[in-house]
This record gives sequence, C-alpha cells and structure tokens, in this order.
Amino acid sequence: MPNYTFRTYAANGREYYTYGETGSDALPLTKKDLPFSVGLMRMLYLDMHPFLGMPAKFDHAWRNLIHTREEQYADEMRGYLDELAQAHFFFEITRLEWYDRLQLAADIGYADKNGIDILDLLPRERVTHIPSEIFELQRRGLALIEAVMDIDRKDESFQKRLVDYYTRNAKEDLSIFTFRPCPVSYELIDGKEFAEVLYPETVYDLIDYYLRQCVQRELRARECKHCGHWFMITTRSTAEYCDVTLDERGHTCKERGAIKKWTERKSQDDVFKEYRREYKRRFSWIRAGRISEAWFYNWSAEARKQKAKCDSGEITFEEFKEWLGRP
Ligand SMILES: [Zn+2]
Repeated sequence: MPNYTFRTYAANGREYYTYGETGSDALPLTKKDLPFSVGLMRMLYLDMHPFLGMPAKFDHAWRNLIHTREEQYADEMRGYLDELAQAHFFFEITRLEWYDRLQLAADIGYADKNGIDILDLLPRERVTHIPSEIFELQRRGLALIEAVMDIDRKDESFQKRLVDYYTRNAKEDLSIFTFRPCPVSYELIDGKEFAEVLYPETVYDLIDYYLRQCVQRELRARECKHCGHWFMITTRSTAEYCDVTLDERGHTCKERGAIKKWTERKSQDDVFKEYRREYKRRFSWIRAGRISEAWFYNWSAEARKQKAKCDSGEITFEEFKEWLGRP
C-alpha cells in the first residue's frame, strides 16, 4: 500500500482535488478546487522550458545515490520533484509517488534487500522523460481542442469534427492525443451526489481524464482576447477572456478584461455626456433665436461624426471636447 493518496472529481462546474501523504505522522491532506477545466488548461500551457535541464540533473543524482548510498542525493532528487510540483500541482502525483519510493529505498539502505531490487524501486526514466512527455501532450491536447472545440466554427457537429480529426490523423498516430484506460471509481460525494472519481497514477492520467471530461461534455473553446490561449467556455458563450492565465499579480485575463471593459465603457460614457451637454445647450439656442434649426442640425450631424471618431480613438477626448467648444 502506498503511503499517499490523490483523488479528483468534477462537480457543479468545479474540479476538486485531495492529495497528500497518509502515513501515521503525515500532515492533513491538501484540498484544492478550481473552476472546471482550469487545471487541465494551465497544464497544457505550462512553460516546460525551465525543466529542460532537469532530466540530466535528476539522472546524475540517481547515479550518485545508487553508487554512494548517501542520503544527500535522495534529497537532491526530492528537490527536483518539489520544483515540478510547485510549477503545477498535477505533478504532486509524481512527487508523492517518488517521496514514497525514496522512503522505501532509504529503509533498505539504498541497496537490494528483502527481495527488493533497488533499480526496480527507483525507475528514474519515469521522471526524466516527464519534460519531453509533457511537451508532447501539450501539443497534442491543444491540437485536439483547436480542431474539435472551436466555438466560432459552425460547420460541423462536435462528434463529426472529433471523428474527422481522429480519422484524418490516424495514419500518423504519433500526432494525436490518445485516451487511455484511467483508474476511475464512482463514488458518493459529500453525501449529496455521485461522481466519477479519478485516482491518478501519473500526470498523463490527470491530463487524459480532464481532457476526456471536456470532450464528453462537448465543451466549446475560444482563444482568449488577452493572452491568446484556448480556454473552455463553461458559462456564457460570449466569453472573451480566460480564467486560466494569471498575470504577475495573480489576476486572470477575465478579471483584467472586466477592468479594461469597465474603463473603456466609462470613457465612452464621458464622451457621450460631453456630447449631450453641448447638444442640449445648442438646442436651447434655437428657441432663444440665436441660431437656425438648419444650422443646429448641420452642427449635430458633424458632432456625431466627431463623437464616432473619438469613440474609435481616431481623435482624443481632449480634441473632441475642443471641437465641441467651438462656437
Ligand atoms: Zn487569457
């Protein structure tokens, strides 16, 4: 029995995760929840470049551990696993598995003992191949989303696009995302409802499971107006900004987009107010006999043109005000 657990399920538009060590002196399990599909999309866009050098370093530490049996090399390996888990919590499954393996290895003094082969216990290639595997899964996952889920393409049904995508690419099956059997259970959640619960063994299981959930629900996706990344449409079909990408302050594009829209709308309101004020003032001049009606309607037609220029950014708000102020 491994001394750790990792389970996840989706319900009510969110995804829930529980994970951690389960030994007698273990800390409480970590619980986490996110809007549905965000964990997957963050993984598909995770920058793996910082991890390109990891496989060689991990391999080096592993060799040193096997040859010297010194604890410091196990610690070094744990350090690389921590870095992965910090980059994305899907890698917690890798970290937990390997912390468990390294503990077992320490218990037998990093040598073959009690019928355990140390090389079988620490299959390093399962960690060293991670960066290249993730690169590949990102490429295939995003290609699937683009080919099948694009909300702004109305040509074919979801299933037709999905079938076409797989038939088209069947010859070169290296380029398609392959769904595999997943360790899934069906459980009562919080005494309220049943849901499919995944007990992942690898990061592949997590990506596979959540991509599959999106496909099974026939979700649609769009490219975010701010970061340009694909995101799943889970609420309004007119959504333009994602809640996947975070800026340096931890704000999502959706949050930034809402602020941007608000300021845009506010400044358009200011333009409109200025225009209306001037319009009313001049309208009152007709009754006062200061100007003719014809003059007024010529002016208002021109004012609307200037306002449109200002709304589109062709002229500034200051220039518009200056124009309105002219006699
Ligand atoms: Zn975005």
